[in-house]
Amino acid sequence: MSTMMELVEELWFLKRDIVSDDFDKALHRLSEEIPMTIHEYPTGSQAWTWKVPEKWTCHEAYLESMDGERLIDYTDHPLHVVSYSLPFEGEVTREELLGHLHVHPHIHNAIPFVFKYYQRDWGLCASQELRDSLIDEKYRVVIRTSFDPGILKVGEVIIPGKSDECFMLVAHLCHPAMVNDDLTGVVVGVDVARKIFEGPKPEYTYRLLILPETIGSVAYLSDHEDLIPKMVGGLFLEMLGNHAPLALQQSMQPESQVDKTLIAVLRGCDPKSYVGPYRTIICNDERQFNAPGVRVPMLSLSRVEKPESIESLYQPYPEYHSSCDIPAIVNQERLEAARDTVIEMLHAFEKNRYVVNKFKGEVFASGFGIWIDYKENPEGHRNLFQIMERCDGERTVADIAIELRITFQTVWDILSTIAKKDLVTYSSTPKSTTPRREQV
Ligand SMILES: [Zn+2]
Repeated sequence: MSTMMELVEELWFLKRDIVSDDFDKALHRLSEEIPMTIHEYPTGSQAWTWKVPEKWTCHEAYLESMDGERLIDYTDHPLHVVSYSLPFEGEVTREELLGHLHVHPHIHNAIPFVFKYYQRDWGLCASQELRDSLIDEKYRVVIRTSFDPGILKVGEVIIPGKSDECFMLVAHLCHPAMVNDDLTGVVVGVDVARKIFEGPKPEYTYRLLILPETIGSVAYLSDHEDLIPKMVGGLFLEMLGNHAPLALQQSMQPESQVDKTLIAVLRGCDPKSYVGPYRTIICNDERQFNAPGVRVPMLSLSRVEKPESIESLYQPYPEYHSSCDIPAIVNQERLEAARDTVIEMLHAFEKNRYVVNKFKGEVFASGFGIWIDYKENPEGHRNLFQIMERCDGERTVADIAIELRITFQTVWDILSTIAKKDLVTYSSTPKSTTPRREQV
């Protein structure tokens, strides 16, 4: 079994375009690490309002000066050619070339990642430094690409639980020769799934999807409409290895139990971590799950500095979508910290239930031996009584944690103490113990 970082090192430089031989190769390699079902969607098949694109292959591509000096070569780096570029061969003027030569907006020595899956054009990518050196009148361009009928693939790891209600984990495997976006989400997802497999049978069924961004999610969802009502929540994983705090983006249903539970768990993790509303940190496959007709509350976990403007939403970390997104910017320690956070979130979601009081009035704490002296432990005393007064069959563990702005674990520990005294019980549905009274 390979570590997360070993998988990153092995798979990162593959040309993982959305429907491509190298995408398949990477998915196949991951299926050796963990049992996986591979769903296949042929080119041209309809997925709701979308159509599965062709398989794209770049056989050869380069830019030459008129006296034959090779200036850009696809064999040096897969990012030199726009993903899904049309084929093109011929002599072009400098001006025409520059109209098809893409550079990175911020990093002068980086090759940018540019894709034109649906608005087709031919294009090359290079560093700003190389672009600045192009002073000749004419150049020769060769881009030998082909568009063939192919098969879009979605890998699904299923960990059966006691219930067929399922929790979705999603990460995308596409993006040629890049690491943090989103090979890191993939390997964290695989490691989370391996850990759940090792443990006792979970309450929920877990489904990890490894797919090409956007079209992969739409293809899977449109093919599994019967499963959508069973999806109780989800978490999209991406950009989890770089040096930035963990950021949890809420779903489109911020009042959902999944949102509340995951937020209350994150509070107890890295103190620099933070939470942001839907579409304020990252925009990715979670959109397909939150979308109309689906409406699965799917949050997103990533490592991103707090966005300061709408522009930073499109530049979540410095090396984003460039040839600088390499294994050196991520490490095993940060991947493991992210994995452990996800596992803690899922454990909490498994435990999250309505808390039903078996007592009335305020509990005679010293009589039950659970009194916490406020002089010795004022916070503990306050938490104990504030938690107990919220046990009413109308609130879950997560509801209480969110209301009191404390961690899920703190609430759980105190509830475990009073549950041992037979003061509370748990229910998967609300069971209010408040007497009904006529409205006046
Ligand atoms: Zn991306």
